[in-house]
Amino acid sequence: MSLAPQTAVDLGSRFARELPELAVPWAAAEFPDARLLVLNEPLAAELGLDPEALHTPDGIALLTGNRVPETAAPVAQAYAGHQFGGYSPRLGDGRALLLGEVVDTHGRLRDLHLKGSGPTPFARGGDGFAAVGPMLREYVISEAMHALGVPTTRALAVTATGLDVQRETVLPGAVLARVALSHLRVGTFQYAASTGDGELVRRLVAHSIDRHYPHLADAENPSLALLGAVIDAQASLIARWMLLGFVHGVMNTDNVTISGETIDYGPCAFMDAFDAASVYSSIDRQGRYAFGRQPLIGEWNLARFAEALLTTIDADTDRSIELAQDELGRFRDAYNAAWFSGMLDKLGIPADADQEMTTPLLTDLLDLLQISRVDYTGFFRRLSAVARGDAAGTRALFADPGPFDLWAERWLGLGPDSDAMDAANPVYIPRNHLVEEALDAATGGDLALFEQLVAAVTSPFTERAGLERYAEPAPDAFGPYRTFCGT
Ligand code: AMP
Ligand code: MG
Repeated sequence: MSLAPQTAVDLGSRFARELPELAVPWAAAEFPDARLLVLNEPLAAELGLDPEALHTPDGIALLTGNRVPETAAPVAQAYAGHQFGGYSPRLGDGRALLLGEVVDTHGRLRDLHLKGSGPTPFARGGDGFAAVGPMLREYVISEAMHALGVPTTRALAVTATGLDVQRETVLPGAVLARVALSHLRVGTFQYAASTGDGELVRRLVAHSIDRHYPHLADAENPSLALLGAVIDAQASLIARWMLLGFVHGVMNTDNVTISGETIDYGPCAFMDAFDAASVYSSIDRQGRYAFGRQPLIGEWNLARFAEALLTTIDADTDRSIELAQDELGRFRDAYNAAWFSGMLDKLGIPADADQEMTTPLLTDLLDLLQISRVDYTGFFRRLSAVARGDAAGTRALFADPGPFDLWAERWLGLGPDSDAMDAANPVYIPRNHLVEEALDAATGGDLALFEQLVAAVTSPFTERAGLERYAEPAPDAFGPYRTFCGT
């Protein structure tokens, strides 16, 4: 019997077997000098993987796709997508691989996926690689989102490949090992529908229902039922983003999951000062994916999903459109209900409070935040102190606290629960200036600041001594923040 840590993992290939039309068997590039930079040990354990074994050469080879179990059948997934409104019929995993599926310790099927693992047939002229900074960025932001209670893909590990990648400058390369309930996207359905093979779309619907919405297994109209479930999941997801001040930045239909998890942390950012027009992505010049437009874009993306499903909803096209439109018509109510109830939680107000009072209270608050451009996260966190009788910290956020005082009087009249507020409003989010500071140091080889940042933001609701700078907005000298795609 060997006492060496075991990297053995059962990697299923369900997607590759059930939907071969949407998968190209592929392998990762060779990374003989790979070095593990960061491993998410609790997540490894949740997947039934031995964290110690993942530190060994065999473990690192698994995390870069260089040594996979014989049973595994890694694939690059095919998908299409609307990017900034324009349709691309063939996107797919240009620099990613689905290694396979793992049954986690809760019995759930999870995708084990690599990003930055080398060019695939979908690379479209891209180099297929990724740099250390952006992969660590996805690691810290996705793990923060998870800790904040937002459905999201998870980050298992970032491995430095030992190879350089050419961007504006030469940067160290990396592979992110990512875990997700699946990598099925609206773009997957668009690709399947574009083949004209209705049976393929039906199989994709059945696969999606089985993986994500098993309670719909006996639905009379599976495509319509799936459409409804994804509408609900996305409405709830986007409401969570809005409540936290999160800007996804690249809500293309290939980045909209069927599971309702947030995916692809490219040009995303958390707002500091509240502004509905916040845009961080360097290429989003029209503000298509601005903070305040996210619910609208979510609805638009779901309409593209409905289109891809149309031929499978009803044999009669007019009837199909009518049924799909009825479902889509529910998005706004579903979103508003999720946002409204989340906002009441943030304000410590019971869900059954009189809506004639709470609706204008929320609208007026947003106006107040927009006019005053106060730090969004800091405002809500400090507000619980106002409920405890200490308004100084919150008032100090406003150049003119007069309008806030009037608003606060109405809000205090509803008897807010300050402890409940502290459980809903984070102290620590991945502040843009701190993310950049940590990534700069990590790219230079020093991971200490990165590890501190991960520690702060993965326990976001509990204030700790010594972490004061993690709760502060960027200093003015940080200037406007820019983020990038395809890094
Ligand atoms: P994303 O913005 O990360 O969602 O990527 C959009 C599309 O571009 C996907 O099809 C990616 O696989 C592809 N892509 C992004 N960066 C690269 C790269 N460096 N090499 C190849 N494909 C890439
Ligand atoms: Mg993507």
